[in-house]
Amino acid sequence: MPKPFKKNQKRYNKGPVAPKLAGNVLVFFLVFMLLVALYTVLSGGAKKSDVVSLSLVASQVSDGNVKSIDVSGDKLSITLSDGTLETSKKETESGLSETLSRYGVSPDLLKKVDVSVASESSASFWLLTILPIALPIVFIILFFWFVARQVRGAGVQALSFGQSKAKITDPSDKNNKVTFKDVAGNKEAKIELTEIVDFLRNPKKFLDIGARIPKGVMLTGAPGTGKTLLARAVAGEANVPFFHLSGSEFVEMFVGVGASRVRDLFQMAKRAAPAIVFIDEIDAVGRVRGGGMGGGNDEREQTLNQILVEMDGFEPNEKVIVMAATNRGDVLDPALLRPGRFDRRVMLDLPDRADREEILNIHSREKPFAEDVNLKVIAERTPGFSGADLYSLMNEGAILAAREDRKKVSQFDLIRSIEKVMLGPERKSHLLSLEEKRIVAYHEAGHAIVGSVLPESDPVHKVSIVSRGRAGGYTLSLPLEEKRLESRQSFYDDLAGLFGGYVAEKMVIGDITTGPSNDLQVATNLARAMVTRWGMSDAIGPVALENDGGRLIGGGMPVEHGYSENMSKEIDAEVKRILEEARTRAEETLTKHRSALDAVANKLIEVETLEQPEYEEIIKMHGIVPKKKG
Ligand code: ADP
Ligand code: ZN
Ligand code: MG
Repeated sequence: MPKPFKKNQKRYNKGPVAPKLAGNVLVFFLVFMLLVALYTVLSGGAKKSDVVSLSLVASQVSDGNVKSIDVSGDKLSITLSDGTLETSKKETESGLSETLSRYGVSPDLLKKVDVSVASESSASFWLLTILPIALPIVFIILFFWFVARQVRGAGVQALSFGQSKAKITDPSDKNNKVTFKDVAGNKEAKIELTEIVDFLRNPKKFLDIGARIPKGVMLTGAPGTGKTLLARAVAGEANVPFFHLSGSEFVEMFVGVGASRVRDLFQMAKRAAPAIVFIDEIDAVGRVRGGGMGGGNDEREQTLNQILVEMDGFEPNEKVIVMAATNRGDVLDPALLRPGRFDRRVMLDLPDRADREEILNIHSREKPFAEDVNLKVIAERTPGFSGADLYSLMNEGAILAAREDRKKVSQFDLIRSIEKVMLGPERKSHLLSLEEKRIVAYHEAGHAIVGSVLPESDPVHKVSIVSRGRAGGYTLSLPLEEKRLESRQSFYDDLAGLFGGYVAEKMVIGDITTGPSNDLQVATNLARAMVTRWGMSDAIGPVALENDGGRLIGGGMPVEHGYSENMSKEIDAEVKRILEEARTRAEETLTKHRSALDAVANKLIEVETLEQPEYEEIIKMHGIVPKKKG
């Protein structure tokens, strides 16, 4: 009987930095090569010509073979009478006639030659002189500039520590606008937050009358109950900017960055006031201090301190409200919850049946439904689902319909999605051998029969030996109505149900497999919690010896439990007794209803999945009365 599990959602938005940088450096090198090539062409001259010595030029002039000479700086471009081109170089410090006369060319002969002198200060002369020196320098400067820009642009912020990385939602941004209409259920929370909205909309009214407005609101609730959504909705309702930063983002970088980010964040918010600063997952920085190893995590502590300093430093008219969210309200540092800080606490619950229907309705906007869709039924079948689960259920349903090329989402798509969200995707390809199939069928039938017989367990909705996620098969049972409180008797029945698989395997196969390992774990944890947390053991008495789920403090060592070695032995004995009792009850039940067990198991081997009506049909034939509503 695998229980639905919740995924804790975390998002990371860091992309790899290196490829982008490398790409840009490459582009830069290409540009550089191009410049070099350009220079070569410029200085090399466009026409193809032979380079000759000055003495040859002199003799050619003497022979009267030269038609013209162009002088540009100390470069000579010579055109011979037959049209051939030559280049040469004169001495830098003397003129052309002076140079040639030194080679024995008389000025008279030179007069026959058409000599033109290009201006020495011409642009190209300077370019050609300066470029060889300037180009490398320009290159080096550009290179450093590029690298510096890349490093900053990539968000590493090695050159500019601390700038807040808050995501800002502007009130005029219609696409990202969320209002209370988008949040289903949570009526009390909304009423509580309406006050904040009123203040942000019209702060003057409150300030004029001298009212002190809360600085901090702490949203607590299970993952996926809509804390982030609700915080956004407050900003949307009040029409103010929303600065959003996640606690885990503080912790990711160098020491000391967290605190300066907080400072920047609050500075920005004050400039934009009235505004909301939202610190999501604040437990990442705000856990109880001083419990960790090695003096705790300094970075976290400094960040937390900075948040507190900023909140304490608000002027009464600052008009910035800080909201924070956590799903571990129990581990928060008490300093955060002091009056004047996060003194308003808003709890978000898992949605009840009506709320679930409302959430499903919200997420069915823009989804075309077939006529058979009945969201009420879906809501009934999803106790324990959070808003986020329901959102992903709707999405899975639409994906299923699209994959099968249908234009509308049908009820069957949604029903299949419930199980997918609860248990993970089906693994049809996971083929069982005949013997394995028999074992799994008896295992699941065992859970189902015990669940159907014992009065306090939930009715069976579905039994299947199709493997899903990590489970080999599964038995789905759902409560007839929403339960907020669980009784000791219902736990006893649940425990017996958990042993149904284990006992059936042993009775029928004569051996025990690894199949029930998860069942045993769940059963043991449950029995232990009954003894140490809920005072449900008569031998130990009404005392809470442990907190929620073996809690850790400061992210380090487990807390030492406050009881003796002796007590620890007594607890173990009690847990063992409760488990043994549960097993015995399962054994008795299955022995008594062996024919029903065989019938259900055999049908499962044949069809693999039994829905509630077919299942109840079978057990009725073997003398078990199915549980009825009401
Ligand atoms: P949390 O911050 O409590 O973990 P989120 O606010 O991130 O949960 O909720 C995740 C998604 O689940 C939301 O974006 C929304 O689509 C859906 N959701 C959760 N609660 C509700 C609700 N009460 N009404 C409508 N949608 C909800
Ligand atoms: Zn099982
Ligand atoms: Mg969240």
